[in-house]
Amino acid sequence: MCIFCKIIEKSIPATILYEDQTVIAFLDISQTTRGHTLVVPKEHFADIEDIDDNTLAHLIKVVKELSVKIKTKMGANGINILNNNGLAAGQTVEHLHFHIIPRYDEHDGFNCSFIAHQEDLLAIANLINN
Ligand code: 5GP
Ligand code: ZN
Repeated sequence: MCIFCKIIEKSIPATILYEDQTVIAFLDISQTTRGHTLVVPKEHFADIEDIDDNTLAHLIKVVKELSVKIKTKMGANGINILNNNGLAAGQTVEHLHFHIIPRYDEHDGFNCSFIAHQEDLLAIANLINN
């Protein structure tokens, strides 16, 4: 059983912020920034490809509601919402989850950089669509 399934069945502790029949949200143990939260479906789905649309729709609604609440209550200035899928993308726990990372300023502990590369955009679009 994965670590998040253990949290869901309450066999290991977590600091739970929200819970309903399908979703649980708890503070990330790493606290990249103060209030860093994970929103997790109670059923074990490995990643975004694995989850059904209804559960995902509810999950993302909870992500939105909690993001607004956390930003307000923590006095944050922004929020990053992050979902890693696969080892190459940095997924370390193979149970789908969304990170809510409240942001206080550009040097608060979280960094996500987009490095620009020259690419043939049309060739990429054709590859994806055909
Ligand atoms: P990933 O890298 O898979 O997107 O994120 C997994 C996250 O789960 C990490 O940020 C990590 O700190 C968090 N995490 C791993 N184990 C535990 C745990 O036992 N409890 C809590 N609250 N968070 C955990
Ligand atoms: Zn699991």
